Amino acid sequence: MEKSKTKKWIGVDMDEVIADTLGELLNRYNADFGTDIGKADLIGLRFWEKIPQDHKAHVIDYFTDGEIFADLPVFDDSVEVMRELQEKYEVFITTAAMEVPSSFNAKFRWLERHFPYIPSSHIVFCGDKSVLAVDYLIDDNTRHFRRLQGEGIVFTAPHNVNETGYRRVDNWLDVRKMFL
Ligand SMILES: [Mg+2]
Repeated sequence: MEKSKTKKWIGVDMDEVIADTLGELLNRYNADFGTDIGKADLIGLRFWEKIPQDHKAHVIDYFTDGEIFADLPVFDDSVEVMRELQEKYEVFITTAAMEVPSSFNAKFRWLERHFPYIPSSHIVFCGDKSVLAVDYLIDDNTRHFRRLQGEGIVFTAPHNVNETGYRRVDNWLDVRKMFL
């Protein structure tokens, strides 16, 4: 059976693409431990690789009830550019929420608040993103691209700046340039 889409489909990740999870994490960590770690200190590193082993349990606790996701800052221009993308593409929010199941509620509320024009039919809480039938996936984690049928577009985050092999966008104005 022939199946066709009228528009191309774009999957957009949440954390580190539209939501500044790392920024909030650094705010909390710096306040709790009297440090001054910024994003520039995390080039090529995961946050977990930067902090002492014995701080990890404290940081994991930030995520326990999932509420951290309710108040994350929104990345500049994402609200406007996503709205524009929606006119030309079918846009899906695709977040690997299974990593923190307690986050579902807060993530959903956050999306309703900042991206009310994305219908709930286009919000996908998933595990392995290679199951998605999107033509493009904008994500900061290239591990999601390895088995993906569509094209992975890397959204720049400190941890991925040295990764090559994929087209890259640094911010939402770059997304507009690439797709619109
Ligand atoms: Mg992400």
